[in-house]
Amino acid sequence: MKRFILLFLVYFAISFSVTAQQYPEWDAVFSRITREVTQHSEAYGQLKNITQQVGHRLTGSAQGEKAETFAYQLLALYGLNTRYQTFEAESWSRGSLAVEINHQKYRSVALAHSPVKTDITGSMVDMGNGLEEDYQQNPEAAKGKIILTTIGILPGSRQGLQNLHRSEKTALAIRYGAKGIIFINAAPGNILLTGTASVTGKIIPIPAVCIGNNDGMQLKSQLQSTPAVAHISMFNFAGKIKSRNIIAVIPGKTKPKEKIVIGGHLDSWDLATGAIDNGIGAFSVIDIARTFKSLNLQPARTIEFVLFMGEEQGLLGSKAYTNNAIADGSIAEIKYMFNLDMSNNPKGFSATSTGDKPLFQSIGTIANSIDTSFTNTFRSGFGLHSDHQPFMLQGIPIAGLMGSLSKEALQCYHADCDDFNLVNEPELKNTVRFAAMLLYGLADAPELNAKRLSDGELKEALINSQLEKPLKISGDWRWED
Ligand SMILES: [Zn+2]
Repeated sequence: MKRFILLFLVYFAISFSVTAQQYPEWDAVFSRITREVTQHSEAYGQLKNITQQVGHRLTGSAQGEKAETFAYQLLALYGLNTRYQTFEAESWSRGSLAVEINHQKYRSVALAHSPVKTDITGSMVDMGNGLEEDYQQNPEAAKGKIILTTIGILPGSRQGLQNLHRSEKTALAIRYGAKGIIFINAAPGNILLTGTASVTGKIIPIPAVCIGNNDGMQLKSQLQSTPAVAHISMFNFAGKIKSRNIIAVIPGKTKPKEKIVIGGHLDSWDLATGAIDNGIGAFSVIDIARTFKSLNLQPARTIEFVLFMGEEQGLLGSKAYTNNAIADGSIAEIKYMFNLDMSNNPKGFSATSTGDKPLFQSIGTIANSIDTSFTNTFRSGFGLHSDHQPFMLQGIPIAGLMGSLSKEALQCYHADCDDFNLVNEPELKNTVRFAAMLLYGLADAPELNAKRLSDGELKEALINSQLEKPLKISGDWRWED
């Protein structure tokens, strides 16, 4: 038994050193990246600047436009060849809101894609978790009522109960005839959360609002003994807006027609400054570009650094990017899309395909030899709801990071507390340097094994990942049954 373990260790040591030596010139590059980022990263300082100088970065707003200019100028200042990609899209932004329950005012925010103008009064009904099974207990209960439900799962719910997205809960409320929906936030205290309440990105017919957890749970217990009448009135804006993705390019040295796209959304919701969602991702992308430029790195393939706008309102910028790339044929050049959305302090890498797992592991092995805190885990799988999605739906291989955020940061997701104080500078530097290493490896590897999936292969992969149903709900499923 002992000998077996020893043999195993010897085998492990040999395979470890073989992968590390597979790309010997990368060791030096990755060490230079680490030194540059450790000593000169501007991600933290520039993110601080934009949150202070611009505020939130809502797509279509004056601040959103300022944020686009800020990012463009910064990339240009770093010496990158930078351009705007303008797009037009349907957008939503909040106006005013008042929520009163039994004549008492509640702190609240509208969820995005709530009606442009509405003023309703109705008696309230507690719909528990707001899942199908809650309605089925009494399918008439929600009809003509304003329902109270939760963003999360209530404590004491049955084990293994699967939650739904707020937009899906809203769709259920509409289907069961509710005239309004009030969500209790899951985060403790009275943190308010926004985000879309629409599964399609179109305006929904009923108002959807969020109230704090303390206020909401108190109201919920009152409802058990006392009937309540709610009054919701709101004004919002909806219509065509113009916005701009920002694209910076480093042309490939030997394979300029093959492209790695690294992107992160620059836009944020408007309740706070979006420092975590997605300030850390966007400013990592910008600082990776700065690092490459400062070290004069030019790998084999072309790299495009893309800051998307409109992610929060329905992946508007990344959809505009892929539609343009399909129209001009450049979509065929994209070998990988590497997305950074709330990515923080990575310990490993992820990809939709296992085809390049050895490459990812080799890159991670070098990263681990520089800093053992990078444990080099690898996970493969398909997911939705960020800017990689339109690329993924074209069959393009996706790369990502496996990291983590503090509890405080997670509780402020889409909330009125997503501000700069949540940003951890050493962790942000880790994101920049390990992402820069993966980017360099993907752009410089002699061969990439993950190939763009055919339509049939993609369909099968999405079905296997249980993504058929959500993609049908959002109208993004393009296959006939
Ligand atoms: Zn995000």
